[in-house]
Amino acid sequence: MENSEALSVDVCTVWGMAQGAELDERLARIAAGVEACRGLGDELWRAGSAQLEQVMGDVDAMVVAGEAARVVVTAEAIGRGETGAGAEALTPVGWVRRFAPSTKAGGAGQVVAVAQAFAVAGVAPVKDAVLSGSLPVRSAAVVLSEAEKLLPLITQEARPTVLDGLIEVAATAGPRECRRLRPTLLATYGVDGELQREQDAAKRFVSLSQPFVDEMGLAEYRLVLDPEGKAVLEAALGPLSAPAPVDGERDLRSSDRRRGEALVTLVRQAVSSAEPGSRATKAQLFVTVDLETLRSGLRGAGVTVGGPEAGTLLAPETVRRLACDATIIPTVMGAAGAVVDLGRDVRLFTAAQSKRLWLRDQHCTYPGCDMPAHWSDAHHLVHWADGGPTDLSNAALLCERHHTVVHTRRYAGVLVEDDTGTRVEWDRTVDSYDRLLAVQSAREPA
Ligand SMILES: [Zn+2]
Ligand SMILES: [Zn+2]
Repeated sequence: MENSEALSVDVCTVWGMAQGAELDERLARIAAGVEACRGLGDELWRAGSAQLEQVMGDVDAMVVAGEAARVVVTAEAIGRGETGAGAEALTPVGWVRRFAPSTKAGGAGQVVAVAQAFAVAGVAPVKDAVLSGSLPVRSAAVVLSEAEKLLPLITQEARPTVLDGLIEVAATAGPRECRRLRPTLLATYGVDGELQREQDAAKRFVSLSQPFVDEMGLAEYRLVLDPEGKAVLEAALGPLSAPAPVDGERDLRSSDRRRGEALVTLVRQAVSSAEPGSRATKAQLFVTVDLETLRSGLRGAGVTVGGPEAGTLLAPETVRRLACDATIIPTVMGAAGAVVDLGRDVRLFTAAQSKRLWLRDQHCTYPGCDMPAHWSDAHHLVHWADGGPTDLSNAALLCERHHTVVHTRRYAGVLVEDDTGTRVEWDRTVDSYDRLLAVQSAREPA
């Protein structure tokens, strides 16, 4: 008995020593690498340009590997509870700052975030990419924070694809690009309607600060816009802020200055054209949308705005609302990818129709709102996207805000005629529009 016990202790010790020797050897190689880096400057004059490039790549790989190793050590320390142990309990970030002093300049939080994610099965590809050296730790931290926000909004089966996509983009194009992918990924893989919900929610953050005036009398504003607001503003600013040469002399104003002056011009125009009937300069967005998306209403899929504001992704219900009035010029693509021309004439109310509509409705028709006619949109009661005609009998004035409400909550409006004339009545129960549409299409099948 005693013998076999002694033997097993011996085996353990030997095995432990062998492990210890392997670790010691590794640590010695790391120390040698550090030493080699420190002395590098003395020898570089010998290197030709090709070798210089190679040295740069090797050193970079070493930095990446070193940063990954820092995460591995941190994960180990967190795993065995080292970070909170000892006389003075440290947070994981505090532990990293103490024992990896260069992180006092920043980055300890990222090291800890990535180390903690090493234990999460759902984001295992991030761990693999960090350990293989293809994804720097800083990029991995961005991928993780994007994934945390994005994955809950993505359909279950598309999550691995989206995560791989984020890693790939962060590794090849940098973490910044990864952030910009969000709307596209939501549109392509999102749970139905998620992009729309996001953009509707973004409206809450729209703001224009009070002016902050400095000693020179210059006023500084902070403007926050949702994607739709940005698309509308940029489309209006685009032509107004283009460089304007005078008598063949170049326009030397900076782009920011031209944009600032264009904004003031825009406001001047809006104020001076307050008289009804002169809203001719309404900004135009160019939108390419497939017929199916436009007609199908709430879908995950979004629509990319072209023209001066190329690349902004708008949610489909937003485009359907914009399509009510002159703000966008949709290019509608049919199933075969051919352009289906449902041109302007069909969609937009003529000046004469608008005038009659203004006389009839006077102001926004939403209950309790008296926003004047010239600040309102002409809404198609049966949406233009659903084949509603551009007739007065299918029109109602709505201010911007209530136009959004009516489309977002899908309220139905109907024309009511009595002795006092014609007025619009709104059914303010959510989805009443869809019920009305169902009733109508049952009556006259298309
Ligand atoms: Zn509308
Ligand atoms: Zn209103």
